[in-house]
Amino acid sequence: MTQITPQPGIMDIALYQAGKSHVAGQTRVLKLSANENPFGPSPKAIAVAQSAAPDLHRYPSTDHSELRAAIGEIHNLDPDRIICGVGSDEVLQFVVQCYTGPGDEVIYTEHGFSMYPILARQAGATPVCVPETNRVVDVDLILNAVTERTRLVFLTNPGNPTGTLLPADEVARLAEQLPDHILLVIDGAYAEFVRPEARFDAGVNLVDTRANVIMTRTFSKVYGLGGLRVGWGYAPRAIIDVLNRVRQPFNLSNLSLATAEAALRDRDYLDMCRRENAKWRDWLAGELAALGVPSDQSHTNFILARFADQNEAEACDALLQTRGIIVRKVAGYGLPEGLRITIGDEEGCRALAAAIRAFKEGARA
Ligand SMILES: *Cc1c(COP(=O)(O)O)cnc(C)c1O
Repeated sequence: MTQITPQPGIMDIALYQAGKSHVAGQTRVLKLSANENPFGPSPKAIAVAQSAAPDLHRYPSTDHSELRAAIGEIHNLDPDRIICGVGSDEVLQFVVQCYTGPGDEVIYTEHGFSMYPILARQAGATPVCVPETNRVVDVDLILNAVTERTRLVFLTNPGNPTGTLLPADEVARLAEQLPDHILLVIDGAYAEFVRPEARFDAGVNLVDTRANVIMTRTFSKVYGLGGLRVGWGYAPRAIIDVLNRVRQPFNLSNLSLATAEAALRDRDYLDMCRRENAKWRDWLAGELAALGVPSDQSHTNFILARFADQNEAEACDALLQTRGIIVRKVAGYGLPEGLRITIGDEEGCRALAAAIRAFKEGARA
């Protein structure tokens, strides 16, 4: 019989490895592995989600006009240059599908998001991994890697799992020095957590002033809606027009649209989540540093704790699991000595710090 073969590139995709969410033998776990909001969604968003149930027989809006108008209002953006997707992952997929294909190269960086090479291969394109310098994206190394086949550059800013920020002037330099026919995609999944002193606009000004820059954002992180699957992109109108051609007309449910809008409009809740994150992020980084576990200054809702080596990171992870605490190993992101730890609420941060203290004391004993 003849083999039914998939398109080139598809079988090169490794199946996505999700982080753990259970520990054998533990009924209560403290999950600090997926950068979820420890406070959950806004109570107003929960109420809207519950009230949406009786209308689930109705097809949703196909143009997402209300959610786009709300995003435009809150972020002071033109709603006609916004597109919504099933998580920002889907928006990233539209971009790769529309602008790359076999023979094209897609640049991403050493510790970049694992979805980027997957998306490139889905489109038949070739992912090209560029080193970072001390866990920070290096604009010159990206520019050096550009060839005549490069079509797209992915930048996660702030980075995941590094938590570091490429300063605005460096992002602007990258945009200016990339050839005009190459798209720069700025993935701002953690943009809401950036420290105010960084004066960071997530790439909005670059989208407004250039024809080849796209910004993506998500409701999965600070809005606590990872399970709902809503994200959005902001791009020049010509690009939005292209992306909308591959978007399925009913990609977002009416429940998703209404819930995301309610979450977006609850600014008091957002402020509380950001304040708590900033407070406990600094507290936790300080505690771990005092225990001999340094981390780079984080602009996100996690820290990348660095141990002496992979052995120590794995031993610490094993101890955390005995206490029902789940963090993310990041050897697959080129950081074998690291553990990525989501900032929990006060109780979660204190439990984590106490466990790492016990690990360090046990190692000394
Ligand atoms: C979490 C995350 C996203 C968001 O993905 P969604 O599909 O919106 O849930 C995107 N990029 C990075 C780097 C992330 O960490």
